[in-house]
Amino acid sequence: MFKLPNLPYDHSALEPHIDAKTMEIHHGKHHNGYVSKLNAAIEGTNLANKSIEELCADAGKHGAAVRNNGGGHFNHSLFWEVMSPEGGAMSPELNAAIASAFGSMEELKTQFSAAAGTRFGSGWAWLVVHDGNLVVCSTPNQDNPLMDVADVKGTPILGLDVWEHAYYLNYQNRRPDYVSAFWNVINWTKVSELFAAAV
Ligand code: MN
Repeated sequence: MFKLPNLPYDHSALEPHIDAKTMEIHHGKHHNGYVSKLNAAIEGTNLANKSIEELCADAGKHGAAVRNNGGGHFNHSLFWEVMSPEGGAMSPELNAAIASAFGSMEELKTQFSAAAGTRFGSGWAWLVVHDGNLVVCSTPNQDNPLMDVADVKGTPILGLDVWEHAYYLNYQNRRPDYVSAFWNVINWTKVSELFAAAV
């Protein structure tokens, strides 16, 4: 059975960029709900022993409950890890890969922010490793680039939740302000680790 992971920092640690109340509800209620519903969907089935990555990889075959809640569990687990109040240093390897793929950090930020801003309704923006290269994309709902149903497939190394539940208390309708604030709390050390593991 899957478990809700602990947050690697206090609810208030990402303030003022992400407020404590949002973190409390987002982690304790929303993410917890995905975990509970995922467990209910796989309990007693032949999916019960699969990893979350395996469940995502075949999401299109497993029905809506596994796709939505399995995606929700994977996506939020990654999201908490790629944020930190300290930020963290980027590896030279990731820095070089960003320069190669996008030309500059500023261009990555522009493309990622556009992906987050133009995803209509609920979804996620991603930086993924696809065939050894860095690519920006977005997915609807709780889909992710590990999924067989994704338009752009790859290994996510950075993800941003753009569901209204992720920002509405503090930012209301101002999604672009939330997306912009996210860049202050990215844990580049963790993103660098995920990049190294993916290439
Ligand atoms: Mn969320």
